[in-house]
Amino acid sequence: MRYTVLYGGTRKETPKDAEIISHKLMIRAGMIKKLSSGLYTWLPIGLKVLQKVSNIIRQEMNSIGFAEILMPIVQPAKFWQQTERWDKYGPLLLKIKDRHEKEYCFGPTHEEIVTDLIKQDLTTYKNLPIKVYQIQTKFRDEIRPRYGVMRAREFTMKDGYSFHINQESLQETYDEIKQTYHRIFNKMGLDVRDVLADTGSIGGEISHEFHVLANSGEDLICFSDQSDFAANIELCPVIEKPFNKQKIFKNITKIKYKGDLSNAEQIPDNFDPNNLIKCLLVQGISSQPVMLILNNKHTLNPTKAEKHPKIAAPLVILSYQEIKNKYDLDIHYLGPVNSKFPIVIDNSIKGISNFTCGANEQEYYLVNVNWERDLNLPENFDLRNAEDGDLSPDGNGALKIKKGIEVSHIFQLKDTYTKPMLIKYNTKVGKSDTPLMGCYGIGVSRIVAASIEQHHDDKGIIWPTSIAPFTVIIIPINYHKDDKIKEFTDQFYNKLKTKFDVLLDDRSNSPGSKFADADLIGIPHRIVISQKLLEDNTIEHKKRCEENTSIISIDKIESFLK
Ligand code: ATP
Ligand code: MG
Repeated sequence: MRYTVLYGGTRKETPKDAEIISHKLMIRAGMIKKLSSGLYTWLPIGLKVLQKVSNIIRQEMNSIGFAEILMPIVQPAKFWQQTERWDKYGPLLLKIKDRHEKEYCFGPTHEEIVTDLIKQDLTTYKNLPIKVYQIQTKFRDEIRPRYGVMRAREFTMKDGYSFHINQESLQETYDEIKQTYHRIFNKMGLDVRDVLADTGSIGGEISHEFHVLANSGEDLICFSDQSDFAANIELCPVIEKPFNKQKIFKNITKIKYKGDLSNAEQIPDNFDPNNLIKCLLVQGISSQPVMLILNNKHTLNPTKAEKHPKIAAPLVILSYQEIKNKYDLDIHYLGPVNSKFPIVIDNSIKGISNFTCGANEQEYYLVNVNWERDLNLPENFDLRNAEDGDLSPDGNGALKIKKGIEVSHIFQLKDTYTKPMLIKYNTKVGKSDTPLMGCYGIGVSRIVAASIEQHHDDKGIIWPTSIAPFTVIIIPINYHKDDKIKEFTDQFYNKLKTKFDVLLDDRSNSPGSKFADADLIGIPHRIVISQKLLEDNTIEHKKRCEENTSIISIDKIESFLK
């Protein structure tokens, strides 16, 4: 391709809303352009990368017997009502009406639609397993679209689905997908880890995510320092260290202190900040809120909390103002002694002694409170986020926490969708049964950004060849001034482009700005053509990922690039 027909072009400035490096570089390299919040146009250079990523995925999915299909983006409400996700999916679901006032949504995912598709054709066990996938635009009305295409509202996903006669068959495909995904990410030059994951709004039981480890990641991943245990913090269980059983109970006292003790500049007598607990009120399944208690130094894990049978899901935490209005109390004065709420304490709180908590009275705290002596021990539950140094849940080593970008998520859905959608087939022994289902997502457009997070320097992007927009860029010096250069360059370009993905920088810009753009766009190989080099029948070659240039004889360049 010639640079002069390439629509887009590089930019010097970065937009104000670009916080992370991949977003900045995608805008500056002319890969994408913003239309509106979370909506981007893919320009030629960006689109080429997106297509290369899609094609690697397509090739690998085809190689394990998944058939490519393309389902409608607009989905009738009735299927979502059948699985009860019409209401449960929440505000992420963009709902629309047609001219007859019939309700539809813009697909954020396709479990319902693919299940209906299979339902229409599935008759006997002989049809199973069925394995299909598509690569398509999805829409989710994200509360905080940001980081460019990393968390967009419209994005490209590969979603695959499989249907099976039994768990063994589902497990086999699930394992094969896991291996295939590692091959896909390897081919793209991405360093990816698979981790245990929560099933969220998609449902099912067993689930894994694939993460690119990067500081801009929005997820926290817990790794054991001694085994291959890895889990998203959302579901990582916390194993508390054994409690010290020999306790000396100090006298309980009530102290007056105005304000939040966790921010206290002057620490009152008797008060040990390590023993301060915090109380949160969350919506229960009945009208009454539930009080959750954690050590002040820990953070609440909403995904784990909402799995408690007394707590409403999705988790709703009562705000400071709601508590003030309803109970005439600042949140930090809440406490478990004489509390009117049902209480669930974090596992770590079970073994705490001589703790400090609010006295349920404005401006008063209780110091040296002890379970059993001052109040009954409430029910305990795993409520907190794992932290660096916690025991690994598999019993081997300690946890380390790192940030990750979720590029893929796979689920064993079992009959979560096939049962409510009444899909059946005839078994070998003439009975009727419900097939088991798996689903396998890859964030195609997110991968483009995640790859840049892993492959860049201060000059720009450094693409791995497999997903680079072009493999080679040719930069001729004096292309518009020297006929010989032009003639040779055109011939050379025409020949090279039959074998490689080549960009010819045929602009009249200065060589310096062309070099800078080649580095910014991140093309793996740069070839410079100049009068002096041509006199010796040579060209200059430089790899984007190396500093050195080398002089190569013209007749050797093709074999060299190969
Ligand atoms: P997240 O936790 O990042 O919101 P999710 O768990 O809701 O993602 P899935 O339903 O598992 O996402 O979708 C499959 C894949 O699609 C994700 O692993 C991710 O790579 C990608 N994806 C999801 N939401 C977005 C988005 N808003 N923008 C870009 N890619 C996305
Ligand atoms: Mg997910």
